[in-house]
Amino acid sequence: MPKKADTLLTNAIVLAMDEEFNQYEPGAVAVKGDSILAVGPEDEIKAAYTAKNTIDCGGKVLMPGLVNAHTHAAMTLLRGLADDLRLDVWLLGYIMPVEREFVSPDFVRLGTLMGCAEYIRSGITCFADMYYFEEDVAKATVEAGLRGVLGQTVLKYPSPDAISFEDSLEAAREFIVGWKGHQLIVPSVAPHAPFTCTADILQACASLAAEFDVPLHTHLAETAIEVENMQSEHGMPVIPYVEKQNLFDAKVLAAHCVHVDFSEIMTLKHHGAGVAHNPSSNLKLASGVAPVSEMLEEGLNVGIGTDGPASNNDLNMFEEIRLAAFLAKYRTNDPTSLPARTAVAMATRMGADAIHIGHITGSLEPGKRADIILVELETLHNSPRFSRDPNGVYAQLVYAGKSTDVTDVMVNGRWVMRDHELQTVNETELLEHAKEYARQVDSFLIEREQSVIAKLIAIGGATEAESFEVQAKVKIPDPQPIIECLQKADIEIVYERHYQEYDTYFVFDDPSQGSVRHREDEFVNKDGEVEYVRARLTHVGPAQEGEFPSKVLLSRSRFLAPATQSLRFLREYFQPDKELYIEKDRLRWLVRYKGIEFYVNIDRVDKPDLGHFLEVKSRTWSRRDAELKAEMVAELITVLGASPEETVTEDYMEIVEVG
Ligand SMILES: [Zn+2]
Repeated sequence: MPKKADTLLTNAIVLAMDEEFNQYEPGAVAVKGDSILAVGPEDEIKAAYTAKNTIDCGGKVLMPGLVNAHTHAAMTLLRGLADDLRLDVWLLGYIMPVEREFVSPDFVRLGTLMGCAEYIRSGITCFADMYYFEEDVAKATVEAGLRGVLGQTVLKYPSPDAISFEDSLEAAREFIVGWKGHQLIVPSVAPHAPFTCTADILQACASLAAEFDVPLHTHLAETAIEVENMQSEHGMPVIPYVEKQNLFDAKVLAAHCVHVDFSEIMTLKHHGAGVAHNPSSNLKLASGVAPVSEMLEEGLNVGIGTDGPASNNDLNMFEEIRLAAFLAKYRTNDPTSLPARTAVAMATRMGADAIHIGHITGSLEPGKRADIILVELETLHNSPRFSRDPNGVYAQLVYAGKSTDVTDVMVNGRWVMRDHELQTVNETELLEHAKEYARQVDSFLIEREQSVIAKLIAIGGATEAESFEVQAKVKIPDPQPIIECLQKADIEIVYERHYQEYDTYFVFDDPSQGSVRHREDEFVNKDGEVEYVRARLTHVGPAQEGEFPSKVLLSRSRFLAPATQSLRFLREYFQPDKELYIEKDRLRWLVRYKGIEFYVNIDRVDKPDLGHFLEVKSRTWSRRDAELKAEMVAELITVLGASPEETVTEDYMEIVEVG
């Protein structure tokens, strides 16, 4: 007596993608409810089961849906926003500022639905996501009918959905509590990366994930710079560092792992971590090629991910699978590395294991959820077909297959695409809505790019602070008499400092933009040793805001301190029209003269070699205050034995220009 199924899928090349790599041709699959009832040769399945629906698959490949092991679905809305940039300029200069401005529940819903539509068309039935407002990612994923391991992002910076990491951690807890046990969604927590999280955040996320037994999704060892910085700050590579923070108390899904050594691979394996390999993203951002063959050799579960559509820029799993195979061959200089069958396993069963839901999906086995795709093999670009080698079909999928060959997609027993027609999402509506976002983001960035200050604030994270000062600078032949005068005259010295200063000015053709100064100060102690170094970024307003008698200037600057980005980052981000470099030895006194505080600087400008300058300046708050202090600046210069009439009105920059 045959048993009852809901649907019988017959006349297919069935690739079970189980441990034994069982293939059935012609094969069939019986589905009941949300699960797979049986998989096997067509005649056996037909004899054992009856169903209301029997679908003739017309000789297509019937296989498990693809598992996208690392992505940020909602970033579809930022696709093509900024390209051909280095990771830090791209992320800190463009993506994060735009995200802070635009990412909202509506943005995330739309972006996720767009992502899901693209996933379905690419044969992806399940994805591991990391983003903000993950609750809304979950709702959209359910609406599209896909399966997701969805991670609420936690990081040390204010994010679009939380002003502090405590808030995002709380949001992650609520998200996990609310969605745990859902038939399509596995909630998780996603500390963004070791360099965007503190040790405390990593520890808190690990214990949260362990408490609820949910996966922890993070980016690890993506770039060589990340590893270098980790080495210099903590004296160890990335994997031992996160191990020290108890990260592996949780079931870890580690995206990238491009720069890991053998012992780190063993550590990942020891803790049962899964790795998400992201070929396109790693290539596009020139992050490097992950040692995937070595990982597989040690038995690590390595899945394949598209990463977010802002760094890929599409969500085409077929391309990723092919690149994964090609890159492994390239890296090992061995064409037998990562054969096609293994590549397909990485995108299915092993990917599901890597994202810690291998018991639910990833292969066609009785009891697993019915996550199934049909792929057309009889296309022009994939013909003819040979049947001699059973691995030939995997090679066809990996080396010549395209996402457009996917015709039908079932998730959890429900069709989400039939004969190329999406069943759950309306693409036309989504595209219209997305165009509107693109218009808004465009005008936001166009406006920002016109202002150096706006660009500075976008990456500063600090608030804008305006300050005015009166100042005068005098060229002096010899500093010694002035230093002696300082000690003798009726001037109270509050303190004295000695610095080596290295200034880089970014100058723009439009003088109204002012300039950006990156200053590295080396504080030199009494023994002549460098005690500490600090770097600051300053926006220097247009040179002459106002001029007083004796050529005393009123100048304005907006400070953003400290400078956490490298000079290289700043150069690529600001793209100045000109760059000037000044190196000087500075003796600085804070003095009190007639009850008012002044800074007295004696500079020896070494690069370019311009000799000595005396500079006197004071902070000011109002026009009246400025007038009074301007007079006193001139007076103090005279008291110190220099002539205010020899004041150089030009800034160093102009001196460098002229000289
Ligand atoms: Zn990522």
